[in-house]
Amino acid sequence: YGPSVEDSSAVRHWLKANPKFGHFINGSFTKPGEGFDTSDPATGTVLARISQGTAEDVDAAVKAARRAQPKWAGLPGHERAKYLYAIARTIQKRERFLSVLESMDNGKPIRESRDADIPLVVRHFYHHAGWAELMADEFPGHSAIGVAGQIIPWNFPLLMLAWKIAPAIAAGNTVVLKPAEYTSLTALAFAEICQEVGLPKGVVNIVTGDGETGAAIVASDVDKIAFTGSTEVGRAIRAATAGTGKRLTLELGGKSPFIVMEDADLDAAVEGVVDSIWFNQGQVCCAGSRILVAEAVAERFEALLQRRLATLRVGPPLDKSTDVGAIVDPVQKDRILNLTALAVSAGADLIGGAPRETCFIAPGYLRQVSPANPAWSEEIFGPIATLTTFRTADEAISLANNSRYGLAAQIWSESATVATDLAASVKAGVVWINGANMFDAAAPFGGMRESGYGREGGRVGMLDYLNGPKLPEAKEKASP
Ligand code: NAD
Repeated sequence: YGPSVEDSSAVRHWLKANPKFGHFINGSFTKPGEGFDTSDPATGTVLARISQGTAEDVDAAVKAARRAQPKWAGLPGHERAKYLYAIARTIQKRERFLSVLESMDNGKPIRESRDADIPLVVRHFYHHAGWAELMADEFPGHSAIGVAGQIIPWNFPLLMLAWKIAPAIAAGNTVVLKPAEYTSLTALAFAEICQEVGLPKGVVNIVTGDGETGAAIVASDVDKIAFTGSTEVGRAIRAATAGTGKRLTLELGGKSPFIVMEDADLDAAVEGVVDSIWFNQGQVCCAGSRILVAEAVAERFEALLQRRLATLRVGPPLDKSTDVGAIVDPVQKDRILNLTALAVSAGADLIGGAPRETCFIAPGYLRQVSPANPAWSEEIFGPIATLTTFRTADEAISLANNSRYGLAAQIWSESATVATDLAASVKAGVVWINGANMFDAAAPFGGMRESGYGREGGRVGMLDYLNGPKLPEAKEKASP
C-alpha cells in the first residue's frame, strides 16, 4: 500500500475501543450479546463483533420507539428539523472517518464512499430537514404513521440508512432499523452521532442481526415496514404483513436495461457502463446489467468497451486510485462466479470477469447468453453485465421489457425524440437518458413490477411516511 492509500488510523482506533457492539436502544448501547463477526472483505480481517438481535431486543426497541413517538411528532416541524440539520453537519464533519469505515466493512473503493455515498447521505439529511420545517404547510391534514420498522441491504449501508431514517423522522415517526449483517458498522457509528447531537431517546433505534432479526421486526408491533433488499425476501415480508394493517414499502431487485442506440455518443455510453455496472462492483439494485446495443454500432462499441475495461484498476478499497474494490462477502463472490460459470458452460463468452484473491472479481461482461440461462434474467449482483444486440427500436423495447423487474433503465441516444420515445415505452421506475446512477434526495426513486412499490426521496417519498389524504403527484414542485 503506497502513499495513495487513505489513512485508516482513526477507524482502527475506534474499532480497538469497540471490539464488540450491542444494539442502540432508547438512546444507549446495550451490553453486547451472542453474535457474529464482521470482516473486511478485501483482507478477510475481522473488524468487530456484532450482536444478533433477538425478538426481545426488537420488542425493547419497538417499545422505546413507541414511547418516544407522540412527543417527537408533537414537536413543531422546525424543532425536528434542527436535529436533522445537526445530524447532517456531524456526518459532514466525520466524512473521512465514515468513508473509511464504509470501505473497510463493505469493500467499496474509497473514492466511491468519499465522493458518492457519504455526500449523498449528508444531502439526504439536509433535504429532509427542509421537509420537517415545511410539514404543516406542505402536508396539511397529514400525520406521522407511528413506528417504522426499517430493514436495509449491504450495498450502500449508510446511504440506505439515510434513505430510510431521514424521511421517517422528518415526518414525525420513530424508527427501529436493522442494517444488513455484513455491514453494520456505519449504522452503529450513526447511532453514536444520534447521541452526540442529543436526538431524543427512542427516536432512532438500531438493532443488528441477520434475517431472523429482520423477521422479528416484521412480526413486531410496528405501524410500517420499509424494506430494501432482494425480491425473494420482499415477497416473504409482503406475505407476513398481509392482513396486519401494517403499511409496507418495498425496494427490491432489478435487471435494468442499458440501451445504446445507433446514434449514441459511444465514448460517453462506455463511461456510462463503467458508472452503471462496474460501479460498486456491480452490487447496485439499479445497475444497467443488461447492455442492449444497436447491431450497427455493436462492434465499435465493444471495441471501446474492452479498451476501457482493460484500464480499470481492481485493488485495495482504501487505495485512492482503485476503481473496483472487493465483493462484500465470500458468499456473494461465489454466487456471482456460479451464475457466470453457468452461462459460460451453456456457451456464453466471458470478457474479463476473472476471480482474484479474497473477495475480488475483475469486472467483465457476458455475450451470447441464451435467454434460457439464469444470467439472462436473474440479478448477478456483481461486476458482470450481459450484452445483446438489437436491430430496431421496437426490438430494443421488447428486450428491455422482457423482465420480471422494472427498477431502472438507461438510454443512450443523441436524439431527444428517440430517447424520450423510448423512455416512455420502457417499464421502469427510473429512466436515465445519457447518464447512469444519478441520485438526488429530491428525486423519488423506486420500482415497478417485481422491483417493488413505494418511493424514496422528494415529496412523494414523504407521503410514504404519512397518514392522510393522498396528494396528487402533479403537486410536485421545487423542493427544499
Ligand atoms: P437480502 O434480501 O438478502 O437482505 C436485505 C435485508 O433483509 C438484510 O438486512 C437481511 O438481513 C434482511 N432479511 C433477510 N431475510 C429476511 C427476512 N426473512 N425477513 C426480514 N428481513 C430479512 O438482500 P441483500 O443481499 O442484502 O441485498 C441485495 C438485494 O437488495 C438485491 O436484490 C438488490 O437489488 C436489492 N436492493 C434494492 C434496492 C432498491 O432500492 N430497489 C437498493 C439496494 C439493494
